[in-house]
This record gives sequence, C-alpha cells and structure tokens, in this order.
Amino acid sequence: MPLSPPAPERASPATLLVAAKSAMYAADLDTATARSRQAEALAEAVGDELMRARATALLARVLHLRNEMAEALTVALRAADLGEEIADLVSAAEAHGVAARIYRDVGEMAAALEEGLKATQAADASRDLNASLSALRAMTNIYAALQQWDTALEFSERYSETARLLGDSAEESIAVATVAYVYAAMCSDAADRGESERAQALGEQSVALSRSAMLMSREAGNRLNENTSLGNLAEMLSDIGRPQEALDLLDSWKEDPNLDTGNMIAHRREARGAILVGMGRFREAADLMALGVAEAPNRQYEISASRSLAMALEEVGDLRGALDTYKRLFTLVTEQISEQAQRAASVAAVRLATAQAQAQAAMLRLQATDLQRTNEDLNRHSEDLRRQALEDPLTGLPNRRRLDQLLASDLRSCSLILIDVDHFKWVNDAHSHLVGDAVLRELGSLLSGACRDDDTATRFGGEEFALVMTGTALDGVLTTAERVRATVQNHEWAALSPGLAVTASFGVALGTEAASSIELLALADRRLLKAKELGRNRVVGP
Ligand code: GH3
Ligand code: MG
Ligand code: MG
Repeated sequence: MPLSPPAPERASPATLLVAAKSAMYAADLDTATARSRQAEALAEAVGDELMRARATALLARVLHLRNEMAEALTVALRAADLGEEIADLVSAAEAHGVAARIYRDVGEMAAALEEGLKATQAADASRDLNASLSALRAMTNIYAALQQWDTALEFSERYSETARLLGDSAEESIAVATVAYVYAAMCSDAADRGESERAQALGEQSVALSRSAMLMSREAGNRLNENTSLGNLAEMLSDIGRPQEALDLLDSWKEDPNLDTGNMIAHRREARGAILVGMGRFREAADLMALGVAEAPNRQYEISASRSLAMALEEVGDLRGALDTYKRLFTLVTEQISEQAQRAASVAAVRLATAQAQAQAAMLRLQATDLQRTNEDLNRHSEDLRRQALEDPLTGLPNRRRLDQLLASDLRSCSLILIDVDHFKWVNDAHSHLVGDAVLRELGSLLSGACRDDDTATRFGGEEFALVMTGTALDGVLTTAERVRATVQNHEWAALSPGLAVTASFGVALGTEAASSIELLALADRRLLKAKELGRNRVVGP
C-alpha cells in the first residue's frame, strides 16, 4: 500500500477537493484518492454536507478511474443519495454520471442509461453547468460504447462546449479528446465500408481535435489526457497516411519517470507499434511489442501488446514465436473474460444490495406513516369521544355533565344563573320544532357571546340553560342576568320565523349560599319558578 501523501496545511474540505481534482487530472490517482477521502472525512467532521456530497462524488470518480468498480459504485450511489437528500443537484448529477459509466464498463447498458438519465434530470433541474458537464460526460461515454456515433458526437460536442463555457480547461481537454475519439471511430467505420474520401475527411477532423486536446491538456496540467491525446493523434496521423509525422510526434514526448505512469508509457508504445506495423517495419514493431508485453502495467495492455506482437512475429516469419504468443494471448483473454464476469457480478451485487436497502427504507417509511396515521386516528377518535361526552350536540355548548364538573370544582367562588325559555311549547307548536331547535341554537350563541372569558354558558337540558360565573358579587351577577335577559328579548327573532318573539326567565344563586352544587341548582331553580310566577321575562335573585 502506498502511503497517502500528507494533506496540505490548513486544509479545508474545499482546498482538499481542489487538490484531489488536480491530482486526478495529473494521473496521480493515489493522491487523488487520499485527498478526496480526507475532504469527505473533514467535511463530515465539520458538518459541511455540501462539501461532503461533492467529495464523495469525486471519490467515486477516482475509484472508477482506478478500475475499482464495486467500491466505486457503492460510493457513487451513496454520493447520489447524499446529494439528493440535501438537494445538491451538482453532486447528484456527478454521482449518477459516475454510476452510469461504471455500468457501461461492465456492459450493463440499460442500467447505464438509467443512471445517465438521472444525471441528466438532475442537471436539467439544477441549471448548473457543472451538473450538465457530469451528465454530458456520462451520456457521451454511453453512446460511444453503444457505437451510436451520431448521438455520441452530439453529446460529446455539447460536453466540450459546456466545459468551455465553464472555463474548466482540464475538463475541456478531456471533452475535446472525446470528440476526437468519436471522429476517429467514425473514420474507421467509414474506412471499413470503403468510403475512403469520407474516412479521410473524418480522420483529418480527428487529427485537428486531438492536437488541440493535446495542447489544451498540456496548458491545463492534465498530463494523463495529454498523453492519451498524443497517442490517439499519432495513430490517427498514421491512419491518414502521415506515419513519419506520427513517429516524430511520439519522439517529441518528454519522458519523466516521476510523472509517466505505466499506463501512459504503454499507451504510447502501443501507438508506436501500430504505426510501425502500418509502415511495414515489422521487426522493429515486434521488438517494441515484446517489451510492451514484458512491461505491461496490466492485463489489458498485455493483451493488446501480445496481439500486435503475434501479428508482427508472423510477418517476420517467426512462426514458433507467433504461436507461443497466441497461446499466451488465449490464456490472457480467458482470464480477462472471467475477471470481467466477476467484475460485472460484483457490480450487480452492489446494485442488488442498494435496491434492497432502498426497498427496506421505503417499507420502513411506509410503516412509520401508517403507524403515525393510526396513532393520529386513535387520538382524534378519543378526543372526539371526550368532547362528545361533555358537549351538547345541538348548540355546541358544554352540557349538563360539564356543568356539574364546573360547579363541583369550585362551588364557593362561583355564581349560577339558570335560564328557562318562556312558553317554549308555544314556539314549537306555532313555529315548528325546527324553528324551536333554531331558537335554542341561537340562544346558545347569544349566551356564550354575553359571557366573559372566565364565565361558561351551558345547556342544562331541554330549553333550559345555565350560566356559571366566576365571582360572587351579587350586584355583578344580577347586572349580567339582567343584561342577558334584555339581549334575549331584543334579539331579532322574527328573522328565524315571521312573528316569532322569545323571552326567558332567570333564577340567580350565589355559590356562597349553598353547601353543594345540588343545593345551588335547587336554589336557582326555585327563584326561576318565582320569576315565572311573577309573569316571566324577569330575573329573580337572593
Ligand atoms: P314556561 O314558560 O312555563 O317554561 O313554558 P314552556 O312552554 O317553556 O314549558 P316547559 O318549560 O315545561 O316546556 C319545555 C318544552 O321545551 C317542552 C319540549 O317540547 C320543548 N323542548 C325541550 N327540548 C327541546 C329541544 O331540544 N328542541 C325543541 N324544539 N323543543 C324542546
Ligand atoms: Mg322548561
Ligand atoms: Mg320553558
């Protein structure tokens, strides 16, 4: 394990992220990995969710570049969740884009497109060019893998245009190299179909684009992409009939063992081998490819170098050597196929586990809302029952049960005004029970409107009401009773039914006069009867 280089001093998640990105562009993937992990951890420690989502997305991208597919996918999906959770569509788009490219690499094209579309949606919703860049990079890669060159070309051109608008030259150099790659692929298709003029034109386009990608990469310090563009440019130059120029170009590369990775060296070597074969210099090509096989940084390069070597050996008549190389190639390809299957399986396992976790989380959420709803229903139901037990349904006033509670709680500091509608039988008979009910409802609101906050109007039963007042000053209670009596008498009852008039009689008793609520009620009731006897529509107190 290489030791991770020390973090820059006074590091913040943002500076670590910048450091990680430039290390990635310089093909220093160990540093890029270390920095993005540090950025992620620091952002989490300081609670900076935005930086954390961005660092996680970048880590996924770097892990993908390292070919660590299963871990890259796990991290990418985590970054996508994180980005969506905090509504940071830039990291969500980047993470979905990385996931798309991972699926593409293991041949899961439907999943790749699905993730590519998610990246595109996030980008569209965010209207942020950085998010668009991630989505367009993914879509370009997907369509290139599908060999749908026209679509790939459209996406790659938008990709490079977006990078240019962002002023991100490291990224723009990658984008332009991608456009060049698509042109190169179209050129080779055209050549295969025998359309030599079209092939030539496409080849020249590709050459021009690769050259500018190469220069741009050099300018931006993106040595990895500079090397890639140089190799592609050399091969393309050779394909369109300028092999010497191609060799000169490869010779012009300033080698630096500290900066050139094994992949970069292998890529240039491969390009040189192809050019030498194209020039008929098979002996040189064979020697170079033998070195390529011996020093291949990974199986992928060992395979391509072996293939070129076998062909070159055939050409120089070394059939024994060619056969041995083909045998070795056969083993390598077999190993590669089984490794690819394993990689696809490990990616599929991550995908399955994620889907299961999401389903589980969705189920828990559903259960939680169900439980909450049930709880709310129960609470509401018992609240309803409690209210019904103490409330009169016709008037909405507290009922007799509530009145008893009130009197029992504080008998000696309250007063009672008992109210009975005068000749209510006649109201019912002359105007109907419906009007009678309406009168009771209206009386209910007249009474509660006449009460102070501390007083309570209740329906005692039938057409009888009771006002419970706090305070026992006789004057105050009598004044209130008299005021209510006048209010009832003067109310516009004819609005309910033509010719209707309503009055009521009042019996008043003070809490200080009685030893129990029953006694208090009896006292008030006696005075109410007295009021009826005296001619109704009046108040009788102590
Ligand atoms: P008084 O002045 O002596 O009180 O005469 P009254 O006609 O009001 O006599 P009483 O108090 O005995 O009559 C009560 C009537 O109120 C009897 C009943 O039909 C009517 N009543 C009781 N509850 C309701 C009700 O909820 N709706 C209606 N419409 N009428 C009711
Ligand atoms: Mg009555
Ligand atoms: Mg009555």
